[in-house]
Amino acid sequence: MADLRGVGIGLGVAQGPVAHMAARLAPPSDARSARTPDEEKAAVAEAVSAVAAELNARGERAGGSAQDVLEAQAMMAEDPTLLEGVHAEIDGGATGEYAVHRAFAAFAEQLKALGGYLGERAADLADVAQRVIAHLRGVPAPGVPEPGHPFVLVAEDLAPADTALLDLDQVLAVVTTEGGPTSHTAILAREKGIVAVVGTGEIDLSDGQTVIVDAENDVVIADPTEDQLADAAARAEARANAAQAPLTPGALADGTPVPLLANLGSPDGAAEALEKGAEGVGLFRTEFLFLSSEEAPSVESQKESYRRMLETFAGKKVVVRVLDAGADKPLPFLTDADEENPALGRRGIRALQHRENVLRDQLTALAQADAETDADLWVMAPMIATVDETASFTLLAKELGLKTVGVMVEVPSAALLADRILETADFASIGTNDLVQYTMAADRLLGTVAHLQSPWHPAALRLIKATADGGAANGKPVGVCGEAAADPLLAVVLVGLGVSTLSMSPSALADVRAELTRHTIDDARRIAEAAIAAGNADDARAAARAAVA
Ligand code: PEP
Ligand code: MG
Repeated sequence: MADLRGVGIGLGVAQGPVAHMAARLAPPSDARSARTPDEEKAAVAEAVSAVAAELNARGERAGGSAQDVLEAQAMMAEDPTLLEGVHAEIDGGATGEYAVHRAFAAFAEQLKALGGYLGERAADLADVAQRVIAHLRGVPAPGVPEPGHPFVLVAEDLAPADTALLDLDQVLAVVTTEGGPTSHTAILAREKGIVAVVGTGEIDLSDGQTVIVDAENDVVIADPTEDQLADAAARAEARANAAQAPLTPGALADGTPVPLLANLGSPDGAAEALEKGAEGVGLFRTEFLFLSSEEAPSVESQKESYRRMLETFAGKKVVVRVLDAGADKPLPFLTDADEENPALGRRGIRALQHRENVLRDQLTALAQADAETDADLWVMAPMIATVDETASFTLLAKELGLKTVGVMVEVPSAALLADRILETADFASIGTNDLVQYTMAADRLLGTVAHLQSPWHPAALRLIKATADGGAANGKPVGVCGEAAADPLLAVVLVGLGVSTLSMSPSALADVRAELTRHTIDDARRIAEAAIAAGNADDARAAARAAVA
């Protein structure tokens, strides 16, 4: 069988037997029940308690935060108000299945209307209803299978809750037919270090069939040869050894330092990032703290989060990005829900300049947290497109007491104007996720244009080089904090293009650290030259590999 191509998440490789995600259930029919209401109620009661017991047992096996989620689902299954709703439907002539379907859906609507945390639980309720209905039908519950041995999970796509709860001792790798590289599956897989290839399109694999999931090469190999299996096993082992390597600071083979920093969305991940050898924080995405807030956060409450982050990284650099709201990260107090094309709308710095009080409060909270702690705080603005935006942001931030103020380069205009922008800004950090999206005019969330979203594209590499050159002309540092920095060979190319620091999800630090030690700065420049001279992303990567060899 031909190899299946998709988009690899991370760089791992894994092998094992396939197990498919059980298919979604067909919706229950609304035909009237042939059984008595008491018989239907007894069947539902039995199904509900079996599902609750199963969820509790899974929770106990999973432990940690997964246990809390699963126990909460078990409680939902047995919720008396819900059961009253089910009984009322049955008394009206519905079958048990249909009654569960209707009553759970009505309850989910009520939760959604409440919004916030309860609103988010509506999806869990749908999952519980599916389990109960599957039990009533005597078919496997939809969701992650439990074949009783480690397996490669094959699914159309995964709900975030499924991905978050995957048992990493059982799931060797994940393959999805749908979803792009920035789908929920991809983001969570990367965070948890799961080997994954997403967006393969229709595939024909059967349960038990052996596959190699090779994320580094964007491919799934069905029925591999002995040689392919041995090669994959050797690569997996080399990766595991790299993860065990001492946590030395990032540096090239000739000793050129390349500080390796962490991308974080909350102070909760800070300790783990340090354990993985992060030399500081290169991107603190502050908007992640407020995604469910209706109101702008107070100076006091923000200051607390920033203080926690800065304390954990005492003595180290912490780059905080002010709120990047809009597009896939709307914040009700900052963004306009009616924009037809929000990625091109009032997003990032544009939204903050429109509501300057929110920006002032955030900068004030940051300056206060800085005054109480010993980290080296740098602050930057997202989505900068012009020299004027740079000037007004740096002026305001400095006025409010911040010492080191920079910009993100994520819009092609900022890369092209980097020499002018960096006359004013103290530093630049390149957000390759958005820079690629805007350079290639390819929505970063859309699987159908995933082939255009590669940061290896020479168009993106040229803009990265322009930014690094703009930094060099002004003696200002330029880092990268987009996903590109997490790809080890691309990280070498970035350094060769003149980038001085790399920031990434902490799970990527070990691979990047190991790769950097294999090349000198002269090698990195030569590899970068080869990549940037190519005409497309695949050729750029191939040219970089050839230059290494
Ligand atoms: C980026 O665009 O590369 C970036 C780091 O910002 P975000 O992914 O949060 O948009
Ligand atoms: Mg961005």
